[in-house]
Amino acid sequence: LERSGPRPRPPRFPRLALTGRPMRIVALAGGTGAAKLLRGLDALVPPRTLTIVGNTGDDALIWGLHVSPDLDTVCYTLGGWIDEDRGWGLHGESFRTLGEMVRFGEPTWFNLGDRDLATHLHRTRLLREGQTLTEVTAKIAQDLDVSHAVLPMSDQSVRTCVRGPDGWLGFQEYFVREKTQVEVLEVNYAGANVALPAPGVVEAIASAHAVIVCPSNPITSIGPILAVPGIARALEATDAVVLAVSPIVGGQAVSGPAGRLMAACGFEVSALGVASAYAPWLDILLVDNQDRALTPSIEAAGIRTIVTETVMRGREGEIALARRALEALA
Ligand code: GDP
Repeated sequence: LERSGPRPRPPRFPRLALTGRPMRIVALAGGTGAAKLLRGLDALVPPRTLTIVGNTGDDALIWGLHVSPDLDTVCYTLGGWIDEDRGWGLHGESFRTLGEMVRFGEPTWFNLGDRDLATHLHRTRLLREGQTLTEVTAKIAQDLDVSHAVLPMSDQSVRTCVRGPDGWLGFQEYFVREKTQVEVLEVNYAGANVALPAPGVVEAIASAHAVIVCPSNPITSIGPILAVPGIARALEATDAVVLAVSPIVGGQAVSGPAGRLMAACGFEVSALGVASAYAPWLDILLVDNQDRALTPSIEAAGIRTIVTETVMRGREGEIALARRALEALA
């Protein structure tokens, strides 16, 4: 399998100003928005600096296979395998299996590519043999040439569900099958109350110098991570500086249903709404130039703001935003 692009190599090593020791950064990550910022960070800091905690609230069983869309998007992007145009799945993908599944009356609304299937077959077999999602994710990341520590938020099942006018839907049913064209009345993270943070997650947050909350959907990507008991508390307790990038720019999501979902959960659809969702533990919010007028109200809530271009266009945009975040944390 060929890569979609060269894997960026870290040109320099950020060190703590006082001690000269390498920084430890934890990133909380959803899918596409997060993957772009992580690729920007990867161009600036060595992989072992960064521990990535990935959302598994939108994991799903498809044809009996365990699919972890956000973990895969992160690993495919950092490994250089992602389909750059779609922003998900593998580069050079084909969908012949999907076509054959029609014959058997299997659901084909979830676009599993032939190459992508290998990841899910492998993950599912290792999980069936009794390995934890943490162990399996580490192996898959390594095999995809990702040298960062990639952790799922939990080894237990946490499933984001949305309630529409006709009842509850799993997140992928809402997002992929219904293409988000369902009015959302309520969001729930099924299983979260009895889930535990995956091994290493709380420890990584506690010992980090900085935590970066990627520009991801606050309700369906960061929300499930925060719903795992102990993770929000770790963010409140850590000495690390916690920085987030607002995924809401000019009163709407850069892409996807984040705006509608935030409104459904009672948050203002703005950088201020993002700030209030993260307020108990957030130190710094990167806000887009378009949203400069919101900064006094965000700062009034005790959150420092940095106004910058936050929409990542191309590799340069990713690196520029990552650099801005690192500068703010220095
Ligand atoms: P998903 O699984 O694709 O929904 O992935 P995420 O949880 O990462 O959600 C994408 C979120 O990131 C959306 O809310 C977008 O508004 C936001 N986003 C995507 N690209 C960018 C970007 O370049 N800049 C910013 N600020 N937000 C972005």
